[in-house]
Amino acid sequence: MSRFAVLGSPIAHSLSPVIHQAFAKEAKLSITFEKILTPAGALKQTLDAFKVNGGQGACVTLPLKVEAFELCDHLTLAAKTAKAVNTLFWQAGKLWGDNTDGEGLLGYLQNDLGLVLEGRRILILGAGGATRGILDPLLKAGVQNIVIVNRTLTKAQALCTNPHITAYDYDTFNRSNELPFYLVINATSCSLQDALPPLEPEWVKGAYTVDLAYKQKQETLFQQWANKQGALLAEDGLGMLVWQAALGFKLWHHFLPHVKPVIQQLRQGAFQDADQ
Ligand code: NAP
Repeated sequence: MSRFAVLGSPIAHSLSPVIHQAFAKEAKLSITFEKILTPAGALKQTLDAFKVNGGQGACVTLPLKVEAFELCDHLTLAAKTAKAVNTLFWQAGKLWGDNTDGEGLLGYLQNDLGLVLEGRRILILGAGGATRGILDPLLKAGVQNIVIVNRTLTKAQALCTNPHITAYDYDTFNRSNELPFYLVINATSCSLQDALPPLEPEWVKGAYTVDLAYKQKQETLFQQWANKQGALLAEDGLGMLVWQAALGFKLWHHFLPHVKPVIQQLRQGAFQDADQ
């Protein structure tokens, strides 16, 4: 039986094992998928032990995505661009790192929500690892321009490597004459702290919105707020989570599973009693 794992800290809440087991069932594969508590600084040691004991691939979550990026022998273009890794595997004894977050979000937006991104204006709140992962796929999807708003302006400015990207802090942006946006992506970690980014409501009115954070059966604070302000749609990050896992699964097993049934099952709480 092939052995896989998700590494991070905290890790008890991770849905990766149940998602990958659902995919394995569809692919008729027998796998084990563990959660391994791995604090910052311990990734190399944990991965070495995992590999010696038959580990074939792993995904990494907070706080290890940059540590994984620094550890890899080889990186895919997506991982190089994002400067962060969420999926690991070994090939000819060398450690490879990929980042499926950006393509995962795109898969969800385009295939499941039916959004057409070409020629659109996109607003991204936050300038951390998640934003780094989604910028390139959004540009490749043909968006017209991207505005990044971040609490720490210099972090947003550092991501303006393309004439189609502009950066603001919240105060300046809220007072700006920017035109309306088709899609607003909350890529801050505010929802994890049950807080809202300091954005004026007018920016989400009439826009599609996605909070990259998720709460499985409950709406995030940003979703609730966006709905109240008249957003066209207020989605969370659960779809992106399942999509990025499906792309990791394809990398490991050369099989792209169906995501919709797994998203539906998660929303209905089907796995809540499972050992997640
Ligand atoms: P990160 O690297 O720690 O970045 C966090 C961002 O949030 C930074 O831009 C930070 O601003 C901003 N922020 C934090 N608290 C804030 C506040 N009170 N007000 C305004 N801005 C605030 O985190 P990340 O890895 O990018 O993750 C961001 C979110 O995406 C998290 O909710 C994570 O769970 C989610 N995510 C979801 C998926 C998925 O599959 N659904 C995948 C990846 C990430 P400063 O720069 O000023 O500190």
